[in-house]
Amino acid sequence: MNPRPPQNQRLLPAVERVLNVAEVVELCRRHGRGVVTGWTRAILDDMRNGRAGELPEDASAIIHNVVRGLGEAARRDASARLRRVINGTGVVIHTNLGRAPLAAAAAQAMAEAASCTNLEVDLVSGRRGRRGAAAEALCREITGAEAALVVNNCAAATFLTLQTLAAGREAIISRGQLVEIGGSYRLPDVFAQAGVVLREVGTTNRTRLSDYEAAIGEHTAALLRVHPSNYRITGFSEEAAIAELVELAHAHRLPAIDDVGSGCLYDLTRFGLPDESIVGNSVRTGADLVLFSGDKLLGGPQCGIVVGRAELVEKLRSNPLARAVRVDKLSLAALETTLEIHRAGRAFAEIPVLRQLSLPADEIRNTAERLVARLRAASPPSVTFSVQAVESAPGGGALAGQTLASWGIAVETAHSERVAEQLRLGTPAVMPRLNEGCVLVDLRTVLPEDEEPLLRRLLECQAH
Ligand SMILES: *Cc1c(COP(=O)(O)O)cnc(C)c1O
Repeated sequence: MNPRPPQNQRLLPAVERVLNVAEVVELCRRHGRGVVTGWTRAILDDMRNGRAGELPEDASAIIHNVVRGLGEAARRDASARLRRVINGTGVVIHTNLGRAPLAAAAAQAMAEAASCTNLEVDLVSGRRGRRGAAAEALCREITGAEAALVVNNCAAATFLTLQTLAAGREAIISRGQLVEIGGSYRLPDVFAQAGVVLREVGTTNRTRLSDYEAAIGEHTAALLRVHPSNYRITGFSEEAAIAELVELAHAHRLPAIDDVGSGCLYDLTRFGLPDESIVGNSVRTGADLVLFSGDKLLGGPQCGIVVGRAELVEKLRSNPLARAVRVDKLSLAALETTLEIHRAGRAFAEIPVLRQLSLPADEIRNTAERLVARLRAASPPSVTFSVQAVESAPGGGALAGQTLASWGIAVETAHSERVAEQLRLGTPAVMPRLNEGCVLVDLRTVLPEDEEPLLRRLLECQAH
């Protein structure tokens, strides 16, 4: 049922009248007159139809309400845009927050490449150069592979690889590895789209080398291993090791493809994290192609990287589909710099994802105590901030099931949902975690340069 139209409709202003108010003139300058006209019409419609409740008794009060409504419309519009968010969730590689935050130098390189850049020009000869050549050289150096190709993301790398090497034929994969990575990315669907016959072997929890061996036939084009990424099979389980798969594949003159997913370059067990497939190990073991993401444990921009045997990489490069999934100049600029940081041995100091994963809990606790002391000194006594033990997660389908002891700031409030909303909607936005009526900011994932803005935002939220 429609609400009853309000009494004093005749007091509603004409759109033109609203657009002439000084504040609204400023909104028009910023957003465009057409846009603000649309917002104004919507607000006036709501008032006319009673959706804005009873109207005030005089025309100037109504105009005041319309102008306030326009301010809110502008704020809603801005919060839907991509903007900076302080990650207080404790999830290090948070896919919904854009995965890896870039190293400062990588962000700088990206900003420079935003203008014209030598993307496909060799500045020495002045002639045509190849897109991605420098990043690929760095990938080869870091992983020890013969060749490399950078594409849009790891999903594209998987698709391009399957389509190029196995279309119209079969690829063999363990039933325990037929994963859904998220959204609509499910491996069986990717096979189907690539025109590759999925030959699944073994069972969900156990697949032996002999299962692969029995499935190899005249239609087999490749053996594929996929890292199960965001889940873990534990208990009575068995998987063929990549070394065994490589040996079997090569005995049958087939390529072994290893989708390792997270792009881990280091042994992270010394930080209490579980064993993750390390790209270099896979290459050394003899996997013919190794696929991984740029924005997970590598800590760079969104992209997919394929490293491996030159002959196969060249086949991928010359597939017309490669153009459809090619990487853009901004991502390449950030990737080159990220890879340089890895090569220089500075990854754990400069790449946020690795720095955050390796932060000792004691250090985070010290930060939490320091920040809470400052919050207590600056906030009204009605508000309680405290230091709280929490658990962070690596996220991004890396190191599934593992948590890391961490510390956070707890805001004790009777209105946790509202405080969380205020934190999300301010500038910069803060994405906290809600836990048993408590708003929590896990400090493992807060970048050092975000500490001051975070304090300001936490104090601001308490003001009303
Ligand atoms: C994350 C992941 C992908 C998808 O990577 P994107 O870069 O997000 O496309 C594919 N395979 C594995 C094993 C993964 O972990």
